Amino acid sequence: MKILVLGGGVLGVSSAWYLAKSGHEVTVIERQTGVADETSYGNAGMLSYGYTNPWAAPGVPFKAMKWMMQDLAPILVSSSAMNGHTAGWMMKMLHECTGEAYRTNKNRMLRISEYSRVCMDRLTAETALDFDHRNQGTIELFRDQEKMDSIGADLESLRECGVEHAVIDHDTCIKHEPALANVSEKFVGGLLFPKDATGDCHKFTIGLAEECKKLGVKFEFNTKVMALESEDDEIQSVITSRGKRRADAYVLCLGSYSPMLVRPLGIKLPIYPMKGYSLTLPIIDADKAPQSTVMDEAFKVAVTRFDDRIRVGGTAEIASFDLSLKPERRKPTEFVVNDLFPGAGDIENAEFWCGLRPMTPDSVPVIGKSPIKKLYMNTGHGTLGWTMSQGSAKLLADIINEQETEVSTEGLSVDRYI
Ligand SMILES: Cc1cc2nc3c(=O)[nH]c(=O)nc-3n(C[C@H](O)[C@H](O)[C@H](O)COP(=O)(O)OP(=O)(O)OC[C@H]3O[C@@H](n4cnc5c(N)ncnc54)[C@H](O)[C@@H]3O)c2cc1C
Repeated sequence: MKILVLGGGVLGVSSAWYLAKSGHEVTVIERQTGVADETSYGNAGMLSYGYTNPWAAPGVPFKAMKWMMQDLAPILVSSSAMNGHTAGWMMKMLHECTGEAYRTNKNRMLRISEYSRVCMDRLTAETALDFDHRNQGTIELFRDQEKMDSIGADLESLRECGVEHAVIDHDTCIKHEPALANVSEKFVGGLLFPKDATGDCHKFTIGLAEECKKLGVKFEFNTKVMALESEDDEIQSVITSRGKRRADAYVLCLGSYSPMLVRPLGIKLPIYPMKGYSLTLPIIDADKAPQSTVMDEAFKVAVTRFDDRIRVGGTAEIASFDLSLKPERRKPTEFVVNDLFPGAGDIENAEFWCGLRPMTPDSVPVIGKSPIKKLYMNTGHGTLGWTMSQGSAKLLADIINEQETEVSTEGLSVDRYI
């Protein structure tokens, strides 16, 4: 089949890879000059197969209000972004904050995350991709005992979902992350996810695009997707800034920009652009740097080790499609890396970046067929698009190929919103 993949982020390129591997003639259409130039560029780098949580959870609305008041707030709502669309999306997210919805959503997410770990292992065994990949786990680090004592419900849900984890004391945190010995008084213990990994999503996507080219995948860069043309509930063509393109199937991977394309077709895709920031520091003293990922629970900031760099990512800002880099938003990331890993990185020469997480209200991605014939979706991966990329893309390819999938597709398609 001739297949057009719309969008060249990590989800688009991964989709192209699995589709090309199964023998299709694939073209990726991307408005930037290369792949992974938008949200897949500077994410926190966590392959958090076990540390997979929906944002909507019981108690979150109350906690979110507390976080907003906090110095170095992990969540911010920009007043200019408050309109009917934003409020409507927030209401949908509120509906997902029940215990039952949380368990359903977490199970769906974990299914994709765990499958992604398996697919990533297969992929790295098959190719020689270089993306600063490390398989040394994630530690969720607790700064106070009260917080650590209150994670009982989380542990229950991890056991229920079969996620490998361990509650570790202060000294065991240092055994896993020796540089934490320098700030030993700042934390009390942690929750370890030993099967989690790290890696540079941008480097990975560039490498995978090269592998795709070897399979014949074509990339049309500097090409904007303008509209999808349909007739009798079937896509006929895609209108791009460089003309009309036709195919046998179309895969929507436009991240936060996906809803605009399908709205004229009558599909309301509840994906919100949840802004986040990252800092990337060149390492100046490797002994003081993390080995893998440390997630600072108090500030919701992740500090991740790449080979010779440290990536620090966090913040959820409701600011619509505003991509301005606000200098004051450096503070939470700068504070956490200086506080937990002082002297490890060159803060003066850090790269400051922001991106828009394509968030669904239930935090579950949208993968599979759509109500319109020939149109498929692989989008809405929110906070975990890098983590879930491989499982989502393999699943999508199996759906398009009408093959039996290796994991259930229950609750993943856009049908759950219709
Ligand atoms: C601060 C931050 C930290 C994060 N940390 C992590 C993490 O540690 N682990 C994790 O798993 N995930 C993380 N994420 C989330 C992850 O980065 C995203 O879920 C993922 O990158 C989404 O990939 P995508 O391919 O769907 O979207 P994108 O990367 O945005 O790709 C969409 C592509 O579509 C193109 N496009 C859009 N509109 C058009 C159009 N009209 N025509 C042509 N092309 C178009 C864009 O240029 C873009 O390249 C983080 C995100 C942020 C912002």
